[in-house]
Amino acid sequence: MEMFCYQCEQTAHTTGCTTLGVCGKSPETAALQDIIVCLCKQIASYTHKARQLECTNMSLDSLLIKMLFVTLTNVNFDTDEHIEYIKKLSTACDNARALYVSACKRNEIEASLISFEPKWNNSTKLADLFEFAAKLNISNRMKTEDPALVGTQELLTYGLKGLAAYAHHAYLLGYWDERIFSYISEALAYLAESKHEKSELMSLVIRCGEVNFLAMELLDKAHNNSFGHPEPTNVRITPVEGKCILVSGHDLESLKEVLVQTQDQNVNVYTHGELLPANSYPGLKKFKHLVGNYGGAWQNQTKEFEEFPGSILLTTNCLKPPLDTYKDRLFTIDTVGFAGVQKIKEYDFAPLITAAKQEKGFTASEEEKSILIGFGHDAVMSVADKVIDSIKAKKIRHIFLVGGCDGAELNRNYYSDLAAEIPGDCLILTLGCGKFRFNKEEFGDIEGIPRLLDMGQCNDAYSAIKVASALAEAFDTEINKLPLSMVLSWFEQKAVAVLLTLLYLKVENIHIGPNLPAFIGPELLGDLVTQFKLKPIGTPKKDLAEMLA
Ligand code: SF4
Repeated sequence: MEMFCYQCEQTAHTTGCTTLGVCGKSPETAALQDIIVCLCKQIASYTHKARQLECTNMSLDSLLIKMLFVTLTNVNFDTDEHIEYIKKLSTACDNARALYVSACKRNEIEASLISFEPKWNNSTKLADLFEFAAKLNISNRMKTEDPALVGTQELLTYGLKGLAAYAHHAYLLGYWDERIFSYISEALAYLAESKHEKSELMSLVIRCGEVNFLAMELLDKAHNNSFGHPEPTNVRITPVEGKCILVSGHDLESLKEVLVQTQDQNVNVYTHGELLPANSYPGLKKFKHLVGNYGGAWQNQTKEFEEFPGSILLTTNCLKPPLDTYKDRLFTIDTVGFAGVQKIKEYDFAPLITAAKQEKGFTASEEEKSILIGFGHDAVMSVADKVIDSIKAKKIRHIFLVGGCDGAELNRNYYSDLAAEIPGDCLILTLGCGKFRFNKEEFGDIEGIPRLLDMGQCNDAYSAIKVASALAEAFDTEINKLPLSMVLSWFEQKAVAVLLTLLYLKVENIHIGPNLPAFIGPELLGDLVTQFKLKPIGTPKKDLAEMLA
């Protein structure tokens, strides 16, 4: 069976995965994910029309964001689970249609119904779905349509997936915003139409950045209201003797529940990957058995999980197909899934805790080593006056935001090389998991301000934007005129959404790498370079000289 997927940075040959995903996604799963996205568009076609008649349905809106999240890179590889989702979406499609029809009745207007394919029922065969997915295949469309138009459609689709992921994180904490649901329905409904105008697509793309800013703000609020504001914290990065659980991904709520359920159980809890910033939230660090962070970025998990002597929970989009050596002590939750890996239901972590107790745990503590984290917008703003005075006194020459995702490719050394080359009179803000390449290095301080300020997860790009806006206000200028440069590493669709937010805010001269998105062909890239002065990364020395000029 053939496939075509080019939604992430590691796509095969920087053009597209066609036989098996570099991530491990099978052609079958890729086909089912295409159908899930197709069904989301169909549902949105009705929820958008119903919304225009002032009729909404929260369970349909929340299902859309969850299902888009399922199709993100490294989230779900379980074919059976995908089939269940497709059945659920088919029912939701009927419900969305009924919602629209009842809205029409209430407004005494005639409903204009749409005939959709595919439709799941008990006699539908998987082969039928795969045949339909083949027709949807992007590579087929590229042969018949304008590649720049297809590229813009894909940019919107992947931006929507990233936005939906952030909205889903916030939704799990009880936070949502009608403007986000409304935009997602509108954009998906537009994508469901048979003809697209590039200018209309581009306008939706930039609005995706605008709405993603709202989603990141909402998630920031959800995190801060639920767990307090991050504060500068030294986090232990070496093991402590005892039984242990490792929690990976982005979901702070799952981590909190694990911590609550492991109290007085003599089990230590460690964060992994993008959960490192959790150690700086007062509502989480108060648990003494949250002993620190283990390991680094997501792509090293096979080795790290194999060596970790306890059970492991994967909460979001960081899953690599697991090895048999740790598969039976690996657990997933919510959107994450892999055939044969146990799934946690209803936040009942008893199976995870039991598995931890059956493993040997760390038999001895290692010498204590720690790293400093916790520079969210509140913490940075508390030293903003000092930073502003230091910039005015020319003690701080420049601020670099070096952030984003990590990945396995060698050319990602660019980011650690760049961080190492940044002169001692410059600050480095960082976020995302790309920082694991350099966050254990010693960067020193300027006038007592640490030179490396870890702002948190990828969604904490919101914090970076808040800080940049505050600096621009203090200097009575615009962000593009500040002594500030952004150097981003992208990997998956959340990073696409963050990039669209920066483009919406008209931030220029963003350096991006290590590879450019395969779905952005030369023409669309040319447009973005011209309009937003987007810059593919070069060499650290050359780029640094340019940014400091
Ligand atoms: Fe390939 Fe990335 Fe798609 Fe996986 S998600 S199949 S690695 S492009």
